[in-house]
Formats: sequence, C-alpha cells, structure tokens
Amino acid sequence: MKYDVIVIGGGPSGLMASIAAAEHGAKTMLIEKGNKLGKKLAISGGGRCNVTNRLPQDEVIKHIPGNGRFLYSAFSVFNNYDIIDFFEGMGVALKEEDHGRMFPVSNSAKSVVDALINKLEELKVKIRLNTTVKAVHYGKDQHTIILENGDKIDTSAIVIAVGGKAVPHTGSTGDGYAWAKKAGHTITELYPTEVALISNEDFIKHKTLQGLSLRDVSLSVLNNKNKFIISHKMDMIFTHFGVSGPAVLRCSQFVVKELMKGRKSVDMHLDLLPEKTEEALYNELQSSLEENPKKAVKNLLKGTVPERFLTFILEKHNVTEELKAANLGKETLRNIVQDFKGFTFKVNGSLPLEKAFVTGGGVSIKEIVPNTMQSKLMDRLYFCGEILDIHGYTGGYNITSALVTGRIAGMNAAYEASFTGI
Ligand SMILES: Cc1cc2nc3c(=O)[nH]c(=O)nc-3n(C[C@H](O)[C@H](O)[C@H](O)COP(=O)(O)OP(=O)(O)OC[C@H]3O[C@@H](n4cnc5c(N)ncnc54)[C@H](O)[C@@H]3O)c2cc1C
Repeated sequence: MKYDVIVIGGGPSGLMASIAAAEHGAKTMLIEKGNKLGKKLAISGGGRCNVTNRLPQDEVIKHIPGNGRFLYSAFSVFNNYDIIDFFEGMGVALKEEDHGRMFPVSNSAKSVVDALINKLEELKVKIRLNTTVKAVHYGKDQHTIILENGDKIDTSAIVIAVGGKAVPHTGSTGDGYAWAKKAGHTITELYPTEVALISNEDFIKHKTLQGLSLRDVSLSVLNNKNKFIISHKMDMIFTHFGVSGPAVLRCSQFVVKELMKGRKSVDMHLDLLPEKTEEALYNELQSSLEENPKKAVKNLLKGTVPERFLTFILEKHNVTEELKAANLGKETLRNIVQDFKGFTFKVNGSLPLEKAFVTGGGVSIKEIVPNTMQSKLMDRLYFCGEILDIHGYTGGYNITSALVTGRIAGMNAAYEASFTGI
C-alpha cells in the first residue's frame, strides 16, 4: 500500500499537517508512536490546551524569539486568526484569557484533541497509533518509512512532525533529528528554553525565599557588561533550586544562551516595583521614616514589598526588627531601596532539556523553504513544529508555530505528491 503523504508524529503540527494534506486530496497516513494523539498539546496551558494567541500577527512573531521572523511567509497563508476560525469551524468555541491566550470555552483539552481526531476521521486519514518509526529511507521517486516492527511503507512525500526533546514522556524524544541529518540537514545546537533556572546563591541554598511568589515584577537578564539583554514583567517564584514562574521561563533562553558562551554565571536583575522610580520610592519611604521617628523601620516598610522579601533585605543590611526609624542611616535606606528596585542575583544553569517546556535549536531554517516548509535538500520532504529551529514563549506561541507550519507542510506535501503519479 502506497500513500501520497505520510506524516510522522501526532502532535499539533502533525495533526494539522495530516488534516491539510487530506483536505488537499492526498491519501494520507498519520503515524504516532504513543497510544494517544496530541499528548503534549493536551497538557499545554496548564492542561486546558492553549491553542493559540489572539495578539496581532506582528506581536505573535515577536513572542517567538527563536526565529519567529521565519514564519512571516507561512503566516501570510495561515495565521493565528485562521487557527481560531479553524477550531470554531469545527465547533470548538474559544475564549481569550490574559496576554491574548486562547483556550476552549469548555476548558477541556479533550474537546480540542477530539475535534482534530474527528476531522482526521472525516477526511479518512489512516491513523496508526502505537507505531514507532525507526528510520526513513529517501528514494528518487518515493520514500520509505521503516517501522520498529520491520514493516516498510512507501509514500510520495513525508512530513516529519516528531517535535523536539522536551518532556520526553509525551513521546517527543528527538527521533527526527537523525532523519533530518540523513537528508543532509544541519541540526543547530539543542538547548532548553522556557525552563526553570538554577542558582547557587546562599539565599537559595539556605531556602530563605523558597516558595515566595512575586507578582508583576520586572525580571531582566544582564550581559557580561551589565547591560540588559531582555526584561519581562510577569510573576515569578523562588524554588528550592533557584527561580521559576512565567517571568523566569521567558528570560531562561537568554540565560542559557549566555551560559553557552562559556560564562560560569549570569546576573539577573529583579525590580519588585517596576511602576515606581527609585527616586520616588526613596522619597516616599524617607518621608514616612521622618514622620515616624519612634516607629520600627520594619513596620514602616511593611507592605512595600512581600514581607519575606522585606525581612530578607533588612537582614542583608543589618537592620534589626527593633531598629527605630530615627536610627536608620540615609545610605542604608538608599541600599534597601536599591534592592527593592534592582536586586541582583546570579544564576548558574537551568534544569535539563527533558524538564524544559520547549526545545531551542533544531533543523536549521536556512535549509527550509519558508512558504512551503519543504526541505531545500531533499525532494518531497517537509518539516513542521518544534523539530524546526523555532521556539517561542509559552502562551500559545509554540502551538501557533506548530499549527501554522503543520498546515503549510501538509498542504504543500499533498500538492507535490500529486505530481509524482504514484
Ligand atoms: C507542560 C508543557 C506545557 C506547554 N505549554 C505551552 C503553552 O502554553 N503554549 C505553547 O505555545 N506551547 C506550550 N508548550 C509547548 C508545545 O506544547 C509544543 O511546542 C508543541 O506541542 C510542539 O508540537 P509538535 O507537533 O512539534 O510536537 P509534539 O507535540 O512534541 O508531538 C510530537 C509527536 O511525535 C511523536 N513521535 C516522536 N517520535 C516518533 C517516532 N519515532 N514515531 C512516531 N511518532 C513519533 C510523539 O509521540 C509526539 O506525539 C508546552 C509544553 C509542555 C511540555
């Protein structure tokens, strides 16, 4: 039995590629090694399936710092608004939450995955679950997929949609990189992105701030000249090994890239009160201290920042619980304010790629045709999704990239296969 298009991998990119190929008339097979389709898609966005993002297209691309600009051509064919229409057209009503994130109204990932599966069935895509692709043989007129059980299946075109290496228990174990290399592709260095960071600072080792969450802080990554590389205003949390939470995840790839340059540690700058200038905060606190000379400094500063952080900073500056406002030197107040507005700490690494949300690096986009997702090196070979050297922030951006590249790859694989006459 020969197929026009075989899609390997049943994540968002592979599901969309299969649908697009079948909609364009291709006899299509989808091969997935797991017992379920869309496992990672289903756990995205805290298990409610963050299908896309409603921000304007340019903003979406900005939120894909790993080669997002490569997606402009693909977006001109199928973009985030088309994804919304696509799901709503299948009866999956969507709602917008913070930062433009789109979720099913049902709050159920199952409703999204089921709709995709129904569509595949309606389009008569042959689905093979529990089927691992072991190797791919590229031929002049047709390609052959070799399964783990030894079976061989011929196809005109192949779409490789097996994802990256993050969270491998979902099935994404990096199998596709070898097949890409076999076709002559370059795999850029793989690294964890959207990942928690490790710090050897004493306050982390001693668990002084463990479990403390900070809301709407501004977190930045500094380069070796103490210049800001990137800042993100979001929430974060101190953990037993370092820092995590949305602001940290967004900053993480910039830290990882700095560490990849050989730096032993990277400084992070934390502004707990980004809406206030340092001067305004200093003046405000100074007036309060002057007006209440007999009150304890700690009581007067309470409420400015979360109490555990306040205690930590006051201890750092040797301000005792009882110290009266009249006895606090101006310089000490200045130092305290500086720590509220720019507490700097070192991070030394990240959790491994397996524990990251997203893989950085992958099949070099220089070797992929941007408006078809076709390999520039091998006829009738396509890539889509996280296997490509494209990565975005969590918030629906990776899934958008997977669905958009999947759509384009599936359509074009079907189109090219139709000329081979197999
Ligand atoms: C916990 C978590 C939360 C996330 N939250 C978000 C979020 O909120 N927003 C966002 O944008 N992104 C999020 N992501 C990232 C996003 O889910 C991925 O980028 C996206 O799923 C990638 O899609 P994909 O189709 O490329 O690959 P995957 O979803 O990884 O799918 C690849 C599929 O290929 C199959 N496969 C692999 N090898 C083989 C083989 N040899 N034979 C057959 N099949 C194979 C795998 O079993 C898997 O089903 C999150 C990721 C995680 C882990």
